[in-house]
Amino acid sequence: MIRKFISRLLGRKPSGPCVIPHARHGIRREAVSNGSRRVVETLQDNGYQAFVVGGAVRDLLAGIRPKDFDVATSATPEQVRQCFRRARIIGRRFQIVHVTMGQETVEVTTFRGHHGQQDTPRAQTDDQGRVLRDNVFGSQKEDAARRDFTVNALYYDPVTETVTDYHQGLADLERKTLRMIGHPATRYREDPVRMLRAVRLAAKLDFSIDAETLRPLGELAGLIENVPPSRLFDEMLKLLSSGHALKCLRSLRAEGLHHGLLPLLDVIVEQPQGERFVTLALENTDRRVREGRPISPGFLFATLLWNEVLIQWEALKAGGERPLPAFYQAMDEVLGAQAEKLAITRRVASDIKDIWALQPRFETRSGKRPHGMLEKPRFKAGLDFLLMRAESGEVDAALAQWWSDFLDADGETRAAMLLAQAPDTQKKRRRRKRKPAADATDAVEAAEATDSASAATAAATECP
Ligand code: ATP
Ligand code: MG
Repeated sequence: MIRKFISRLLGRKPSGPCVIPHARHGIRREAVSNGSRRVVETLQDNGYQAFVVGGAVRDLLAGIRPKDFDVATSATPEQVRQCFRRARIIGRRFQIVHVTMGQETVEVTTFRGHHGQQDTPRAQTDDQGRVLRDNVFGSQKEDAARRDFTVNALYYDPVTETVTDYHQGLADLERKTLRMIGHPATRYREDPVRMLRAVRLAAKLDFSIDAETLRPLGELAGLIENVPPSRLFDEMLKLLSSGHALKCLRSLRAEGLHHGLLPLLDVIVEQPQGERFVTLALENTDRRVREGRPISPGFLFATLLWNEVLIQWEALKAGGERPLPAFYQAMDEVLGAQAEKLAITRRVASDIKDIWALQPRFETRSGKRPHGMLEKPRFKAGLDFLLMRAESGEVDAALAQWWSDFLDADGETRAAMLLAQAPDTQKKRRRRKRKPAADATDAVEAAEATDSASAATAAATECP
């Protein structure tokens, strides 16, 4: 009786959702994007249920600007497609519709069924409980139940300005708590990526993870290994580009989740040298994201895996391999080991290699090479990488400074810089050859006359 009374007071039908009015939640319809609003209105005009859902509602309530606005509806993908002029069905695990509204593309998803119930077919799972296929349509209530966290299961209707809440998501949001819907361990088994999402969203929202939701993480961390590598790569990239990468990686480590992600990350973060470097790289990335500047996945993964390359390189050299072949072999081995777990795309892998391959070459500061270096496609990224290595104390700061100066210098200064770095024997020979020229300025001019200091050095070497 009392419960019924409270439910009525909260606008909740017995065993139904809570329908929260604007006065309580505060989201104005202007806060959602034009495109998503028009999509919802059109679907409702056609007799379907439709709401803005998921991360957008959560972020609006938390005072964060949403990345995008997704819509959930009772219409099937085909019915959605028929409501709009520019709509495309995208089919992967579950069909969704991309509706284009002006510049905006709105992702529209049909309510998903809560598999495993009596009147719906059981979702196909692997022997660890991971859901392989779950393409069953359902009601809004079922759709809410199969979302991951309570704060992600809120449905906003811009027409009535109400929020529909089946799992007390609004209360959790106000308590700044991330809580799994249903039985946490089962939900993680169904989809181990939810463990990574828990860590990422808690960091992004600055929420704590509810104790029951947190508890299974340590025990189930190993299930991440079953996640297809391409999905893991996408999720890892989301995490690293969230603007809270450092915090996320620290939580992953605390929960023992980092092993399955980047198998070598545990080695990296446990080495003092590596830790400093990875921390700097992540701080740098987070700063860039927060300032709205682009980040390069290649650069990011290159930093995370660098220490492992160094370890492998040293081991190969100690085994008698020559330095450069050993370096290339170390690069391939490290990337190969990651590829098994994390489908690093070919383009990203090639960027990583380009950045790494420049590093030993930075050691050469005389001859023709430095000029050639400036022409390399990833030179700037390679130099940023070198600067970070210097900042972490791995290489001499003077080396990184020299390259920064070399990049900024004009031709004359570059030639002088190269000459200053040339081995003494070369300098002596050079001086002998240019006997009448008394000072350094003459030497630089001579170098310039042959277009580069390296060419001048080469010429000097040939002199009797
Ligand atoms: P963000 O976009 O900020 O990264 P998000 O929660 O919006 O976070 P999306 O991947 O855009 O993440 O997912 C949209 C919604 O789909 C989520 O809010 C959640 O309701 C649901 N969802 C996403 N991934 C899962 C999952 N693995 N299990 C259950 N529900 C999920
Ligand atoms: Mg989202």
